[in-house]
Amino acid sequence: MNQYEPSLALTNALLIDGTGGPVIDGATVVVSGSRIAAAGTDVLVSPHARVVDLAGKALLPGLIDAHVHLGGLGFRSTPPFGGRAATDDYAAAREGALRYGVTTQRSLGDFLHDSIAVRDGIESGTLAGARVVTSGPSFQVEGGHPNATVWGSEPAAVREGARMPKSAEEAERMVGELAATGVDLVKIIISNNAIFGPARPELKMPWHLTDAIVDAAHAHGLRVAAHTETVEDARAAVERGVDDIEHLVLRAQEPQDEAAAEELFALMADRGTYLVPTMVAHQFEASADGDARTLRYGNHLIRRAYEAGVRLGVGSDAHSPGLHGWKLRDELVMMVHDQGIPAPAALSMATRTNAELLGIADRLGTVEPGKFADLLIVSGNPAQDITAIGHIHQVIRDGRVVFKGAGA
Ligand SMILES: [Zn+2]
Repeated sequence: MNQYEPSLALTNALLIDGTGGPVIDGATVVVSGSRIAAAGTDVLVSPHARVVDLAGKALLPGLIDAHVHLGGLGFRSTPPFGGRAATDDYAAAREGALRYGVTTQRSLGDFLHDSIAVRDGIESGTLAGARVVTSGPSFQVEGGHPNATVWGSEPAAVREGARMPKSAEEAERMVGELAATGVDLVKIIISNNAIFGPARPELKMPWHLTDAIVDAAHAHGLRVAAHTETVEDARAAVERGVDDIEHLVLRAQEPQDEAAAEELFALMADRGTYLVPTMVAHQFEASADGDARTLRYGNHLIRRAYEAGVRLGVGSDAHSPGLHGWKLRDELVMMVHDQGIPAPAALSMATRTNAELLGIADRLGTVEPGKFADLLIVSGNPAQDITAIGHIHQVIRDGRVVFKGAGA
């Protein structure tokens, strides 16, 4: 690097750097190429830099959504393309996310070859969109969700989107094959209660298979995300060494044993297990089903997890066209307004904590020299009023402006 390298200087910004430290007024962030070169209040700006005055605007790390599906419920109408050159495919998920300041998404249950093609296409620059970290398919039980629900057991979809081992040996082999194909982590769906109810206990992932999957994943250096829907299942999954719990509870459930939840949170805080609540998915279900009670109970539980010191990630479970990014904004608003989590903490969770959860904190998640310049610029101060996170001015990914809001 030399002083003549073209650079961009973003000046007079309210800097919310993602570290959880104090908001810095009047900050300058210098971007050189795809990286952040400097950030703070005493930054020298080269006379060759292009200067953009951000008075009245806040500058943050690009948001990270820790739980999405690139195809999700559209799977039935969008057959897997099996790795052929991705063009318009998944455009809503890829580019929709950027419009709301989400610059990285973790895909937790998608078609194997599609999600890897999309991830790699975005990384190499042949596709526009937010960066992708992917589990590829998810481990699930035959007859459960989503193989029997979303895809109606359609063979091509199941082959790409599901792994349904019948034995520990088969589970181990499947994890090895996924690792060789290049997935970033492993996803297990443990509970199926929200759809099938506790009346179908045979649809729960057998614990000996969970053990085999977790051990094999860790042997390959892959983390394990576990979809659970009861406090009891989450507890057993945490004890078996999964790295994060997705959802924790889902719709149509009665409040569970308060003391058991407290024990779970103490265990998670102690072990450093992450929790990604995806409460906005409940909101969606609540409006559909009128089950606002589950939503209230879920918000209460997440508040208690926060107070217990559980590492909270932020995910939206976005899965329908047009919803990527937008749903993460709503998740953040719910965390602050309905769970009572302070806005600066929530913003740090959606940036730094999520980067740690995704294993990319060495290069993303905070505004610090050396990190990739994935940046979100909004009007107003979201550390004071979280709804400002939706007032998008500009979104920068890899040092380049990838979206401009109205008036930008
Ligand atoms: Zn999901």
